[in-house]
Amino acid sequence: MIAQSNPSPPPRGSASHVVARSSAGDADTRHGVILYVENVSVSFDGFKALNGLNLYIEDGELRCIIGPNGAGKSTLMDVITGKTRPDSGQVFFGQNIDLTRLSEFRIAQAGIGRKFQRPTVFPRHSVFENMEIALPTGKRVRDTLFARLDGSQRDRIDRALEVIGLLGKRHQVAGMLSHGEKQWLEIGMLLIQEPRLLLVDEPVAGMSQQETERTAELLASLAGKHSVVVVEHDMDFVRRIARKVTVLHEGAVLAEGSMEQVQNDPRVIEVYLGA
Ligand code: ADP
Ligand code: MG
Repeated sequence: MIAQSNPSPPPRGSASHVVARSSAGDADTRHGVILYVENVSVSFDGFKALNGLNLYIEDGELRCIIGPNGAGKSTLMDVITGKTRPDSGQVFFGQNIDLTRLSEFRIAQAGIGRKFQRPTVFPRHSVFENMEIALPTGKRVRDTLFARLDGSQRDRIDRALEVIGLLGKRHQVAGMLSHGEKQWLEIGMLLIQEPRLLLVDEPVAGMSQQETERTAELLASLAGKHSVVVVEHDMDFVRRIARKVTVLHEGAVLAEGSMEQVQNDPRVIEVYLGA
């Protein structure tokens, strides 16, 4: 079976011209789509890192993006988070928020969290303090650590620690955590900000088998409440969590479908899996 590589775009409705509110306005997902990437191209010195890319992420879905090195996966994440601006095309969060008009800060504020490959926790602070620093209070790190948390904030942190499996280690110094635990802590630091869309770049690189399995469970458990886009090279991991997989190649979608569909797609086998 050939996976469909050109899904017909869902309607974004008539609100596409609406300029996003300057405060963290809510993404309008009444059409069931949280992210619209339409005909997006990005060139670096004439080389097209993204070449007319179309991608639609449904509200609450967990999507895996795979593709060979240089396919444009990180550039796609950069475009969604405002780090790189597209030369052409549209990027909307819900049907109302034009991400190409917002700063990186505003995009994060609007509800898009990004987990980079390398964990960036504060190593000398405890797990709990790291979560405290990430709480969206608008305070600076130093202020946060000396201010008293109220009961609901403590509960909120504990609930997030439970989700990431670090409740029992809340008083441990973050620098002493294993690589996998640091990655989970950083995911927790994003979750405490309650993003609607979470972008995760190669989460299991360098993890043990057990940590990889636990990460698969964790990310799968987030779907529904959040929309999650995972870029990952580890095929066992993708097989474990994937519902729908998008294969990027030369800056465009080569194939899209279930893991089984894309694995059996001759074009995918040729450029990626067969390599
Ligand atoms: P992937 O994450 O799928 O491996 P990238 O999005 O990182 O791919 O890169 C896609 C292509 O764009 C690569 O050929 C890369 O060398 C190029 N590229 C990415 N970022 C830049 C940049 N800032 N300047 C020049 N070329 C870049
Ligand atoms: Mg990359």
